[in-house]
Amino acid sequence: MSLAAAMPAAQAINQRIARDGHITVADFMALALETYYGRDVVFGRDGDFITAPEISQTFGEIIGLWCAVTWQQMGAPGGFQFIECGPGRGTLMADALRAAGAVPGFVKAAKIHLIERSRSLRSQQKQALEAYAITWHDDLASVPNGPQIIIGNEFLDALPVRQFQRTSDGWAERVIIQDAQGRLTFSIVPANNVPIPIPIAANAEIGAIYEHSDDITTLTKQIAQRLMRDTGAALFIDYGHSTSALGETLQAVKQHRYHNVLTALGEADITAHVDFGHVRTVAKHAGTAVFGPVEQGIWLRQLGISVRQMQLARDKPAAVARNIEQGVRRLTDPHGMGVLFKVIALAHPSLGNLEGFADQPA
Ligand code: SAH
Repeated sequence: MSLAAAMPAAQAINQRIARDGHITVADFMALALETYYGRDVVFGRDGDFITAPEISQTFGEIIGLWCAVTWQQMGAPGGFQFIECGPGRGTLMADALRAAGAVPGFVKAAKIHLIERSRSLRSQQKQALEAYAITWHDDLASVPNGPQIIIGNEFLDALPVRQFQRTSDGWAERVIIQDAQGRLTFSIVPANNVPIPIPIAANAEIGAIYEHSDDITTLTKQIAQRLMRDTGAALFIDYGHSTSALGETLQAVKQHRYHNVLTALGEADITAHVDFGHVRTVAKHAGTAVFGPVEQGIWLRQLGISVRQMQLARDKPAAVARNIEQGVRRLTDPHGMGVLFKVIALAHPSLGNLEGFADQPA
């Protein structure tokens, strides 16, 4: 399904409610985001939110170097699939390839694949990466087999979540309906086979909400199978919680402010926190080694972001040096992005320990 051909979110959502009486939170999120990511300007100061690669070039550079070291741990194959999920404006990939260019053989071996459904973002990515041969995909399934490194920043949080709500009669699925005035509002319908881990379900009070992403589960399984079959590693960075927990985290952001999820459909970015505990469980079950999640600030510091900051700022005018320093501080801030965002990696066990993760793999 291509985003460009999609019907506007409000129309698609209203049609679904007219047909079924309600729409699940996951389907609502998918339809709203299809319209949202099909628009022209999404990122940066003129857009709705700003992401780590747009804040500081050091972010993509550190990830690029991590990929090059991981490639060496894979035995430096002469050809490998270098895959980015949800590349936005292409900034992270451009910074990563520039930095990893310092490692002989890496860029030449990399066959670059971008997983991106938005046609307008694809054209921005094409511009940012015009020096490279790129293949685009709607999803991971069409990327050819072979050793691979997969990366994704703020991709998992855009994948739809279902919401389940504890009631006096057990668990119900949270849905969206139209009230008597035609306004969208939350409601619940009976749910079967609710995918909630038992310890969490047992502790849930009435009214408690549990979020679960079928799409993240499927993607994690798919990635783990690929890694076990063809070797390689995957690195995902996102905001979320390290262990599965109750709580509602669905949020909409428009022009850098929080926004009511049920209004201005398709005009705001909608995300949910990633349940990294669940990703870990699914990946371990499929046999991969799992590293993290660790806090983004710690991971970036372990990989030498401060050294890179000093290199970049050397001999620069004070204002430029201050900008570089502020960008790095924002990414690593223990009261902000540095702890809200977490980094997780999955790998074929033969790779050994991956850089930036102090612990042994799980
Ligand atoms: N990684 C970028 C952009 C993050 S925004 C950055 O850090 O700046 C999320 C990105 O994922 C966008 O490029 C969006 O178009 C893409 N995306 C969201 N859902 C997707 C899906 N289901 N399949 C493919 N791409 C998707």
